[in-house]
Amino acid sequence: MTGPQHYREAEALLTQARLAAARGDTDLAGHLHMQAQTHATLAAAAATVESIDTHTGMLRPWECSCPRCTRVTEWLELGGLTP
Ligand SMILES: [Zn+2]
Repeated sequence: MTGPQHYREAEALLTQARLAAARGDTDLAGHLHMQAQTHATLAAAAATVESIDTHTGMLRPWECSCPRCTRVTEWLELGGLTP
């Protein structure tokens, strides 16, 4: 799931949580709210990674061994985004 997909999923789950709460189903509302929180956290993590600029602007993170690029490369590897 991409960052934008996590964001949209969080929004959809919040809508469902509000509807469940309006019906008085607080257990379901709470469960949906927790799921929404998880997706929102993952969306924020993805957005952080996608906003990272390398220190040179010329170098791909996986081509550099400095601590920051190493950390970025680990995130990219998690998402299968390295060559
Ligand atoms: Zn670097």
